[in-house]
Amino acid sequence: MSQEVATRLDKQMLIGGEWVDADDRTDVAHPYDGEVVGSVPLASEQQVVDAIDAAEAAFEAASLSAYQRYELLSETARQVETRADDIARILTSEQGKPLSEARGEVDRAVQTLDLSAEQAKRMFGEYVPMDAQKGFARDHCFTQREPLGVVAAITPFNFPLNLMVHKVGPALAAGNAVVGKPATNTPLTSIALFECLDDAADEIDADVPDGLVNVVTGSGSATGDVILEHDAVEAISFTGSTAVGKYIANNSGMKEVTLELGGNDPTIIWDDTDIEEAAAQVVGGACSNAGQVCNSVERVLVPDHIEGEVVDALVDAAESLTVGDPFDDGTDVASMVDDSQFEDVVDIFEATVDAGATVECGGNYGGDLGPRTFEPTVLSGVDPEMPAAAEETFGPLVPVITVSDFEAAIDEANNTNYGLEAGLFTQDIDRAKRAADEIDAGGVNINTVSGFRADHMPYGGFKDSGVGKEGIKYAVEHFSREKLVGFHQG
Ligand code: NAD
Repeated sequence: MSQEVATRLDKQMLIGGEWVDADDRTDVAHPYDGEVVGSVPLASEQQVVDAIDAAEAAFEAASLSAYQRYELLSETARQVETRADDIARILTSEQGKPLSEARGEVDRAVQTLDLSAEQAKRMFGEYVPMDAQKGFARDHCFTQREPLGVVAAITPFNFPLNLMVHKVGPALAAGNAVVGKPATNTPLTSIALFECLDDAADEIDADVPDGLVNVVTGSGSATGDVILEHDAVEAISFTGSTAVGKYIANNSGMKEVTLELGGNDPTIIWDDTDIEEAAAQVVGGACSNAGQVCNSVERVLVPDHIEGEVVDALVDAAESLTVGDPFDDGTDVASMVDDSQFEDVVDIFEATVDAGATVECGGNYGGDLGPRTFEPTVLSGVDPEMPAAAEETFGPLVPVITVSDFEAAIDEANNTNYGLEAGLFTQDIDRAKRAADEIDAGGVNINTVSGFRADHMPYGGFKDSGVGKEGIKYAVEHFSREKLVGFHQG
């Protein structure tokens, strides 16, 4: 690595207030060159049970006021801020995204923690005017929000810091205890977050019980089944693949479940827009984090008569990106997280070219670029059934699909089992409104790409892309329950 983290990080799990090891450990490798950068324990099933039991006991013992929960999260934000450079380097070491993107993720995580801290003060209920029904004029009713208990937070590899914060922040804001389970290939950044939470608990003037926050590492299926089966887990917040999300949905019984899953997001570039500007945003949206983003631009839909102009602009934008070592200044696109992700993208690319798509730029991978690196690649002549269009591709591919008119663009946007987000570039408000009404996705973004997201926005997919919403206020609602309190005056 050109600039590695100071030392190899051999980390432990946080269970019941203690940092503990396991009998077995697994290495964590730098995706760009495969060098081992650290290791984490492979939790035994009993250790996962211990973490959940500790969280349950801490939840029962905790009596943090809303202000104290605000302080805990706000102090955690300060701890992350203080360690920002260190955490960004850990993130790039294990995940492989360019350091500039890792710094951006750390900055967002600080904001997500601060937004969660503020939301702790806003656990509002509602006063219900009872005189709305005949015969209840002398009655009163209000609702209050209460925490659920133990929340399990299971996260994927692509944003190992901010996606964990999106669960842990709102869960703690609502007054719950937490067990975190980061992805096996990117656990070190999440552990750094739990170190910050642990340190923040010591800093603030409140009695934070051991076990309020716990983190276990290791195999998803082994830890996941314990989480699914343990009665004390009241809510599971999962971000990851649709296959695992469906398994959780089918095996979680009466637990509250939030599922943020895969996507095959379309972005439409219409003929009345600034094509260069749209193309630059689309290429950025398709290639950031080497395309390993759930709401990245997966399919570019354009009317036939501007295909050439759009493809030229996409090629200019793609060729302006620098491919290389994620620790080098100026690198825009680095490697994929592991061999499996890389090989999936190679297979999808080769099958799409074999099916007749044209490589307009890029198309090189591996070799001198690095073992898991793929160039930003614009493909034209892509039919909807070709793999690059039909499947979620976690790589920097930009497949262009032509449509005859706007109705066909909407139909094609909806031609997927996923429904995470969509983008549309147009100056026509009627088209914008029509897309908003007719595209079957959790978010429709006008004059920007599918990947548009601020951390307090409601965010979550339809269809196979998920159930429930993230975004601080919405996640706090998921992680709490509304109780009715009625007063009868007689
Ligand atoms: P993954 O589903 O393989 O793993 C996600 C997490 O689930 C990991 O922590 C893993 O260890 C764990 N896991 C695996 N099997 C499990 C089981 N049986 N029970 C419980 N947990 C289990 O996903 P990934 O490869 O890490 O991430 C990529 C996927 O995540 C893509 O499909 C992407 O679209 C999706 N994603 C979605 C969003 C969103 O907000 N919608 C955001 C980021 C990523």
